[in-house]
Amino acid sequence: MAVSAAPFSMARVVVVGVGGLGTPAVRALAHAGVGSLVLVDDDTVDRTNLHRQILFRDADVGRHKLDAAADAVERQAGGVRPTVELVRERLHPGNALRVFAGASVVLECSDNYATKFLAADAARLSEVPIVHGAAIRWVGTALAVGPQGGPCYRCLFEDLPEGAQATCDLAGVVGPVCGIIGALQASFALELLGGGAPFGKLASLDGLHDELRFHTVKPRTSCALCGVRTIVDIDPARYLA
Ligand SMILES: [Zn+2]
Repeated sequence: MAVSAAPFSMARVVVVGVGGLGTPAVRALAHAGVGSLVLVDDDTVDRTNLHRQILFRDADVGRHKLDAAADAVERQAGGVRPTVELVRERLHPGNALRVFAGASVVLECSDNYATKFLAADAARLSEVPIVHGAAIRWVGTALAVGPQGGPCYRCLFEDLPEGAQATCDLAGVVGPVCGIIGALQASFALELLGGGAPFGKLASLDGLHDELRFHTVKPRTSCALCGVRTIVDIDPARYLA
């Protein structure tokens, strides 16, 4: 059964990071009839990432990701195409609240903890729902968080981890894991836009063992973002990796 695009035509979806997770998510959202996409990234297309960044092709190598993504949406989206707004910078403490203002939902498709925590905090302070995604090697997760928080990203991961962390660039990631997680993020977002409330739902994929599980995250009363609420603004010092 086809899903009507009508509920999504007025939606404004912000996608933070147009890489392994962001590209399948953008493709799914554009095809679903989302009216407006705001793409946030400051990077260029790299040949070594083409296996997982499915909006891009050989001819895009070296181009700004957002230009290549906008062209791909124009080329691929059938029927009504979304308007695409390009924010050619990383999400940072100085722009996060401005970028999230007026969003129907945010998809956090970044590859580093500083951006993930910043996006979590900015979404809660903006009272915008957010869908987090992460993927490395054979595993990936997607978490949907409501506009009022609770349970939120900080209920799961209290604060930025200390020390060097594994990244996709260093540890590698399997392309289909990114594809599945990015598509799940888009699916959560569409569910939200359609009036559903998958809040606190955590999808967990183990690609090596063919397991996809859904858990319900419990709100943590001591959570600084949605519990005791000691985070009431975007303090740049909070996101120093
Ligand atoms: Zn929380």
